[in-house]
Amino acid sequence: MEMHSKNCLACGKPVKGRSDKKFCDDYCRNAYNNRANGVNTEVIRNINNDLKKNRQILASLLQNDHETVITPKSRLIDLGFKFRWMTHQYTNQNGQIYFYCYDYGYLPIENDVYLVVKGKEHK
Ligand SMILES: [Zn+2]
Repeated sequence: MEMHSKNCLACGKPVKGRSDKKFCDDYCRNAYNNRANGVNTEVIRNINNDLKKNRQILASLLQNDHETVITPKSRLIDLGFKFRWMTHQYTNQNGQIYFYCYDYGYLPIENDVYLVVKGKEHK
């Protein structure tokens, strides 16, 4: 039997009683469950923020109205680009897959070099 007291998941106060109890009472249980919706919203907001930051990074690499630029993957990583998030992908006639964050995208070329693009019209 573990002796350290557990804290209520809702209010943080030590919970008395069975060791598997997670809440003080029904009030705290309900409060915790109601908060879950807020947590879901926060998860979505965090992913959206990452996506927007990704877009910002891609946009920052395209200067002077250029629509494409070649960049090493390491540069994107240095800038904090998170490759796991994207909004959609686009396959051109050659079967190359562009990964997009909103209106900016990138195409893995070779040897960890990427082509960064703006917009959708690419050959
Ligand atoms: Zn509580």
